[in-house]
Amino acid sequence: MQPLPIVAPVTLPIQGADQRFAVHRVYCVGRNYADHAKEMGASGREPPFFFFKPADALFEVGHGESRDWPYPSLTQDLHYEVELVVAIGRGGKNIAQDQAAHHIWGYAAGLDMTRRDLQATMKKESKPWCIGKGFDWSAPIGPIVPIETTGELSAGEITLAVNGEIRQRGDFSHMIWNVREVIAHISQAWELKAGDLIFTGTPAGVGQVRRGDVMQVSAEGVGSFSVNVV
Ligand code: MN
Repeated sequence: MQPLPIVAPVTLPIQGADQRFAVHRVYCVGRNYADHAKEMGASGREPPFFFFKPADALFEVGHGESRDWPYPSLTQDLHYEVELVVAIGRGGKNIAQDQAAHHIWGYAAGLDMTRRDLQATMKKESKPWCIGKGFDWSAPIGPIVPIETTGELSAGEITLAVNGEIRQRGDFSHMIWNVREVIAHISQAWELKAGDLIFTGTPAGVGQVRRGDVMQVSAEGVGSFSVNVV
């Protein structure tokens, strides 16, 4: 038998600590801000829906740092979506909303990068979105900030600028389904585990980036970083 390949677990840095956060799954919430739902052609408070990115699609960027990020293959319409990311520290099934905060370990700022053209084609054909959402390095993310530092985040500004110009400006408090409700919903469909991340959805203003563009991500109380599309 050939030697078994060694696959390292995916981990993320923790702000202000030497330890790293071991990642289990990466859940993403679709259309969770009313203004973005409208720009994507939906309306009202539809039930939350979820998709995954592979854990190794995470692309870590240090707080306040800027990192080159390769333009992905197969797309002519690459979109940014800035999102608050929740890191789960304690798992569970059927978690009640009023208990959900006890399962949060911390927060990060992240980008749900999307090959919008491929996603649109798959949607039209009623096929899964994976190729549009779950591509390699499709999830740039900053360090995890422990909830002991931030407190529970139910409000706070989240912004994305491209080349210094603000394109997305939202507030966590404008989520259609707040973080507690999202945790409750996910845990009805799957067993949440320590190490799970949840990308909680993006506010309006999604749009295209090209090679040479710089995306600046900022989430109040959580941190900021930049990604250079190369
Ligand atoms: Mn998203």
